[in-house]
Amino acid sequence: MTDFDWRDYSLETQAIRAGQRRTHEDEHSIPIFATSSYVFESAEQASLRFTGKQPGNIYSRFTNPTVSAFQQRLALMERGERCLAFSSGMAAIMAVGMALLKAGDHVVCSRSVFGNTVLTFQNYFGKFGVACDFVGLTDLSAWEAAIQPNTRFLFLETPSNPLIEIADIQALADIAHRHGCLLVVDNCFCTPVLQQPLALGADLVVQSATKFIDGHGRCVGGAVIGSEELIEKDIYPYLRTGGASMSPFNAWVFLSGLETLAIRMKAHCDNAFTLAAWLETQPGIAKVHYPGLASHAQHELARRQQSHFGAVVSFELTGGKEQAWKLIDATRMLSITANLGDVKTTITHPATTTHGRLSPEARAEAGITDGLVRVSVGLENIEDIKADLLRGF
Ligand SMILES: *Cc1c(COP(=O)(O)O)cnc(C)c1O
Repeated sequence: MTDFDWRDYSLETQAIRAGQRRTHEDEHSIPIFATSSYVFESAEQASLRFTGKQPGNIYSRFTNPTVSAFQQRLALMERGERCLAFSSGMAAIMAVGMALLKAGDHVVCSRSVFGNTVLTFQNYFGKFGVACDFVGLTDLSAWEAAIQPNTRFLFLETPSNPLIEIADIQALADIAHRHGCLLVVDNCFCTPVLQQPLALGADLVVQSATKFIDGHGRCVGGAVIGSEELIEKDIYPYLRTGGASMSPFNAWVFLSGLETLAIRMKAHCDNAFTLAAWLETQPGIAKVHYPGLASHAQHELARRQQSHFGAVVSFELTGGKEQAWKLIDATRMLSITANLGDVKTTITHPATTTHGRLSPEARAEAGITDGLVRVSVGLENIEDIKADLLRGF
């Protein structure tokens, strides 16, 4: 199947068929290549492989056939030229920084990104002389004003967590390029099924495969996707040296996750849309945050930029923390966990979990009130999800 050009096929087909190179055993499913190293036919071949003059496997820190299949498949789905897999989503984000930044550089990052992403830029890159400024996700003029001559890239997540705000990827890519910097987008919440930032002008996409790509909460993994040039010149040498590689077993799990990703994402989004519309009619709820609702500030942008509105819904209870905890504790089926992107619906109280380490002032500035509850809507029957939440209303 190496003579197919999978770029001619639709995402659903790529997700199932691309990346496979059948071996002499004629297997139908992609095998797990549990091998750390590979054997060469001659000293000359070993030398050619190591110097990159001949393509082929060398060592599983940076070449493994199961991991390669996952990389090829995800690269196509994200509309990138090349993908590299990492041991986690955070390892993928760390790789982007390690590959692109040097002392004296500057990063502009959305204020509403995954907590560990903030710590990565602030504490770890900060330690080595890289400065980072944080700006409001939807404020285009704040992004532009924060750019300095030494800014290397802008970094964002859209939709954001937990307030589900939407950034205009195309507008931010234009701003970044006008100032000679790159745009990096964490596409974990949408996956390539809902949104393809590279096609909108972003330069690199990072993924946490741990979430929807696996979809069943089994494995931790990540990826960086982009142009052949950026990946080959900057990211690949770092992966080869830094070594935060994806294991062949995890790649095999994620490959099967990709095969059902398109139908799962659509089903997640259908459930989330129904739940969000229903929540808006319930008493005791001050606001529902979901881009599929006409009441959402970036509803039109979400409609333009995403193929569906996403699987994560958050809402504010009028009764503050007490009512939020009561609601969460009254559920019997929903999983009380901060994880997301699972076939199982999860519920969490951001102010005291994921965002609990922020000062009350920083939380208020970020709009995360004590009454806010976040639900990552799974694939259980929507009536059962509603009934479970009704126990607490
Ligand atoms: C979970 C998550 C990450 C980190 O991914 P891991 O695989 O847990 O390391 C990064 N970004 C977002 C948006 C996430 O939700």
